[in-house]
Amino acid sequence: MPVVYRCGSCHHVLYEFLKVGQDSYGLPTPSELIAKIGDHCPNCGKKLRLPTMENIRIAPYRSKKTPTSGLIEYQTKSQVI
Ligand SMILES: [Zn+2]
Repeated sequence: MPVVYRCGSCHHVLYEFLKVGQDSYGLPTPSELIAKIGDHCPNCGKKLRLPTMENIRIAPYRSKKTPTSGLIEYQTKSQVI
């Protein structure tokens, strides 16, 4: 399952772990990621803190290569017409 770390302020993607074997380190913990990239968001500059359980969200992952659902809806509508 992919894991995406985002800035809590601007939602900038800080790190994406897409699959096992992506690199030799495996999935970094939040504190390891902060040690790696620094403790400020590179996009908005807000100080990064360790997440609490309320900050963790589980949702379907959409890669940039996946067609958008809007395209599928458009095709369905044109078939009806
Ligand atoms: Zn940010």
